[in-house]
Amino acid sequence: MKLKFSSFMLMGALSLSANAFAYGGIKSPKPKHKATVPKKFIDPANMDTAIKPGDDFFDYANGNWIKQNAIPNKETRWGSFNILHQENTDKLLGLLNEVSQTSATQPKGSLKQRVGDLYASGMDSIAIEKRGYDAIKPDLERIDKITDLNGVINEMIAERVNGESSPLFRFGVDQDDKNVNKYIVGLSQGGTTLPDRDYYLKNDARSKKAQNALNELMVSLFTLTGSNADDAAKNASIAYTLESILAKAQLSRVAMRDPHVTYNKFLVADFDKVTPHLNWTTLLPKLKAGGQDSILVGQPLFFKTADSLLAVTPVENWKIYLKWGVLRGSSSSLSSPFVKAGFTYSSALSGQKVQTPRNERMSNLVDGNLGELLGQLFVEKYFTPAAKQYMVGLVNNLKITLGDRIKRLEWMSPETKERALKKLNAFTVKIGYPDNWEKYQGIVINRDDYIGNLRSVAVWRYNFNVSQLGKPVDKTRWGMTPPTVNAYYNPTNNEIVFPAGILQFPFFDFKADDAVNYGGIGAVIGHEMTHGFDDQGRQYDADGTLRDWWTKSDADKFKVRADQVVNQYNGFTVLDTLHVNGKLTLGENLADLGGLNIAYEAFKKTKQGQSTTSIDGFTPDQRFFLSWAQVWRGSQRPEAAAQRILTDPHSPEQYRTNAPLTNIDAWYKAFNIKPGDKMYKKPEDRTKIW
Ligand SMILES: [Zn+2]
Repeated sequence: MKLKFSSFMLMGALSLSANAFAYGGIKSPKPKHKATVPKKFIDPANMDTAIKPGDDFFDYANGNWIKQNAIPNKETRWGSFNILHQENTDKLLGLLNEVSQTSATQPKGSLKQRVGDLYASGMDSIAIEKRGYDAIKPDLERIDKITDLNGVINEMIAERVNGESSPLFRFGVDQDDKNVNKYIVGLSQGGTTLPDRDYYLKNDARSKKAQNALNELMVSLFTLTGSNADDAAKNASIAYTLESILAKAQLSRVAMRDPHVTYNKFLVADFDKVTPHLNWTTLLPKLKAGGQDSILVGQPLFFKTADSLLAVTPVENWKIYLKWGVLRGSSSSLSSPFVKAGFTYSSALSGQKVQTPRNERMSNLVDGNLGELLGQLFVEKYFTPAAKQYMVGLVNNLKITLGDRIKRLEWMSPETKERALKKLNAFTVKIGYPDNWEKYQGIVINRDDYIGNLRSVAVWRYNFNVSQLGKPVDKTRWGMTPPTVNAYYNPTNNEIVFPAGILQFPFFDFKADDAVNYGGIGAVIGHEMTHGFDDQGRQYDADGTLRDWWTKSDADKFKVRADQVVNQYNGFTVLDTLHVNGKLTLGENLADLGGLNIAYEAFKKTKQGQSTTSIDGFTPDQRFFLSWAQVWRGSQRPEAAAQRILTDPHSPEQYRTNAPLTNIDAWYKAFNIKPGDKMYKKPEDRTKIW
């Protein structure tokens, strides 16, 4: 998915490689803990009333639930999102088991044949074990035959086109941020394995543990493919050294939050001069992306470094780096020693205790590879038009409310307000599933060829992306599959998107009172809307173009308020010395604060919002805020927490719950929060933005 999408939650936060199938356990779910049908939508039994709501609202609302629900061994965290993901996985497994039993007799190329046979091929562990690493032997042999730098570069190109691996850098086709009705070739930094460049740059115990784990993985995979102990160690050291040089040349995640920093348009001929060893004029046609005058480069300095590295590094070392890339990209789909090596690495970083069961990995894999085929089966059985209808109404209520709030803003001039309202009214809203399903035309799936199937999908995906060049932008496409428990805002389409998977309890239930639904899915909708006006999103205008529509004075006032939020979150310590990175998480924190404010105001317009009738001992306002906290209940392993601090633009759940509340007057009133309570902020210190 595109980096610029702002999602509600990072379910794949612990995926450890750019390759979607590497290392398994990417979206690790849970088998035994089936959530029971809730009798109470806000259940006091889940709360810890020994804690004052004003001291730690997250613990007050969720304390008992957390005490009673340990993180399962196959998970790195466990809470509302994971449970819902597990429930969706179980539903998908039901569908996959059914379809795969008859798919062999279905017409070749039909939906059920391809979905069922892809799953069956991945479940055929006997065939997968028997083949060991046969599938990548031709790749390793081809790399062995390389004799010069030209051969190295051609291999780097061929691996992309063949859907095998993406060595050295990332290449893709995307909308041009400043000309959003056109697709353009984009180049961006890459070439590394650890989840963030900081792992290579730092020398604290945690970073060293990750470095060692990567080194061990490299040694294991080289050993498994025939290197002796000395060679495997030597190869690992060469590959790791190259990765660490590339990591040093990468921009930080915080720097990349500024869309202007990563928008660098070059004439192809001009960029040839920046990277004399990578001649894009000749490489682009080989990448099936010829005929382009210009390209977008995310991090020009990275490419300068990568280019000089090509010149000074011996060809033999590049061959080792290329082999490592092939091993890394394929290990999770080879025989069990390869899969185990990958899991040893990923568990060192995430704390996951046992591997995700194969059937769940394969359910995730079919969702990731043929998601809009599998998704059709999912929505047919589990998504009702009534749910879509309810969402349409809710989105409208929230849109009107955000409009009212913008009109009332004290800090913004009428001029900027008019443009903000224009942007709000131009939002595209997508709910449930795509109007036009992707057909994956041409992908052939064979029941007896697991890796062949994965390559077939990867090649199709590559060809599909490059074939978009020169075509009109297709704004009907989706960036998430229907069963996904998440939502997103995409600035270049100015759209908010809600897959069917999130439209379930605790976010939403037809039988729940409005307080629960507005505090749940209502806040999600408000969150995505606010992304259109967060520190990144506000830089895109109503039609999705990266263009400044703010008066200087309004932009300055926005920044003062945003800085208050940066400082507030910088103050949260998560684990020993690790604190939340207020700048990395700013967009999400602004979206949480705005989203909760919008949802609350919209809730107050409902019948329940205007009443004072309690349910299960809680007033309507109390239930609204408790519903918000319930969405975030859960806990995570310390290793996972540490990794997310570096990589996840979302703050930890406890702070996502608590921090926005400290800025909302109605929460103080609802729970009678007073000076002296730990979360108390003086009225004049409460941040008001959207
Ligand atoms: Zn978000």
